[in-house]
Amino acid sequence: MTDPAPIASYHAHIYYSAGQRAAAAGLRARIDAGFEVQLGRWHDGPVGPHPRGMYQVAFRPDQFATLVPWLMLNRAGLVVLVHPNTGDPYRDHLTHALWLGAVLPLTAAGLPRHEVPSPVVPNSAGSGG
Ligand code: ZN
Repeated sequence: MTDPAPIASYHAHIYYSAGQRAAAAGLRARIDAGFEVQLGRWHDGPVGPHPRGMYQVAFRPDQFATLVPWLMLNRAGLVVLVHPNTGDPYRDHLTHALWLGAVLPLTAAGLPRHEVPSPVVPNSAGSGG
C-alpha cells in the first residue's frame, strides 16, 4: 500500500467545450466565492496533457473532503479530473486520477516522472484575496 503522505496538493481540472464555457464560468464563480483555492488561467483549447479547454483549481489535502464532494454535486455536467500532486506528474494524471462525469483521453507524452509540486497559493475571493 502506498502511503498517502506524499500528496502535497491536488488539482481539479474543469473541462469544457465551446458550448459549455458559460457553465464553466458559473462553476468557477461559485468555487471562487466559496473556497480558499488557487484558480488557474482559462485555456480554451487543449494544453499539455489535457484534450480540451479547461482551467485548473489547486487545493490543499485538507480541503479534499469538502471541495470534491461539492464538485460531485455541482459540476453542472462538466467533466472534472481530480489528481494528486506527489512529485510524479505522469502517474498522478494517468494512474492516480479521479474523474467526475467521464474519463477523457490524456496525452501522456510530456508528462514528467519527477517534478517538485508547487505550493498552493490561494487567489480566490473565498480566501479573502
Ligand atoms: Zn493538474
